[in-house]
Amino acid sequence: MNFIKLPSGYEPIKKINLVKDKNARITVNILYVSLMIIMIAFGFLFSNMATLEQFIKVCEKIELWRFIFKAILSCILGGIYVVIHEVIHLFFMKLFCPEAKISFSYKVLYACAGSNAYFNKISYNLIAISPIAIMGALLTMVCLLVPASWFWTVYVVQILNVAGAAGDLYIFFIISRMNRDIMVYDSGVEMIVYSKK
Ligand SMILES: [Zn+2]
Repeated sequence: MNFIKLPSGYEPIKKINLVKDKNARITVNILYVSLMIIMIAFGFLFSNMATLEQFIKVCEKIELWRFIFKAILSCILGGIYVVIHEVIHLFFMKLFCPEAKISFSYKVLYACAGSNAYFNKISYNLIAISPIAIMGALLTMVCLLVPASWFWTVYVVQILNVAGAAGDLYIFFIISRMNRDIMVYDSGVEMIVYSKK
């Protein structure tokens, strides 16, 4: 069950603030860069650009104006993706607690979704992991369906989906290791985990 009022007998056991907490921020940044490198390497392998010879061959075929057009398109799709990512979080927050008030804020480097609800462990983990799972499956399908020359335009969004979920994955692993009886409050910027006294 999920509530908009903390059930009695609960006390706060952990605060997670990925902006203020230096150690958490460093861990998330390391995870972000690692995922980015893995995804780019995978993209090169998949698009037959793994060796220098193959890479030069592909580069020789690229027309500059097409490259610029696709790069701009990827940036636009990336911007749209960020909003969709947060909407998916909000959708699951509302699904698991219909009476919750949801909020969305957008800063230069990040966007965040929050609510005034207290979610149980399973609900909160699903909320955290939903964008990377849903958009990951969808973007993989699109990457496989588009012509090879459009692969990178879509794959850039997939890189953003996986690496950009570093914070969500970090939260998912922290919550997964906690007791079953916890309740999670997520205002969007800061999370507070409560446990039974
Ligand atoms: Zn997220």
